Amino acid sequence: MKLTGIDHIGIAVSNLEESLVFWQESLGIEVLGIEEVKEQNVRTAFLPVGAVEIELLEATAPESPIARFIEKKGEGLHHIALRVDDIDGAIDELKAKGVQLIDEKARYGAGHARIAFVHPKAAHGVLLELCERKK
Ligand code: ZN
Repeated sequence: MKLTGIDHIGIAVSNLEESLVFWQESLGIEVLGIEEVKEQNVRTAFLPVGAVEIELLEATAPESPIARFIEKKGEGLHHIALRVDDIDGAIDELKAKGVQLIDEKARYGAGHARIAFVHPKAAHGVLLELCERKK
């Protein structure tokens, strides 16, 4: 498995537009785009900071994983995404090593990425996303 960098840092927010007042206006980071990922019940905004992006995630339904996260822990740091060159190979390698995964198959992620989550139990309390995307 080849990790090529930190792709983005995911932050769970209650209201995307309200959070953009801070990230966009106070910090002056430009929003690359806002996208709704229906199958995950989230709306995301990507804000590039150098080579890494901040991903803001807002729930669009009560059953959204982001809604459940905010209910339990409040707004805040949700996940770290590592970029991989070959997500299918990375998933196979981690499975072979017995690493607990949330996604045993790559799925669609915002920004036309292919992603898979590693279980926080395997990553010592951090929700880790593997992300393959061409930039
Ligand atoms: Zn992400």
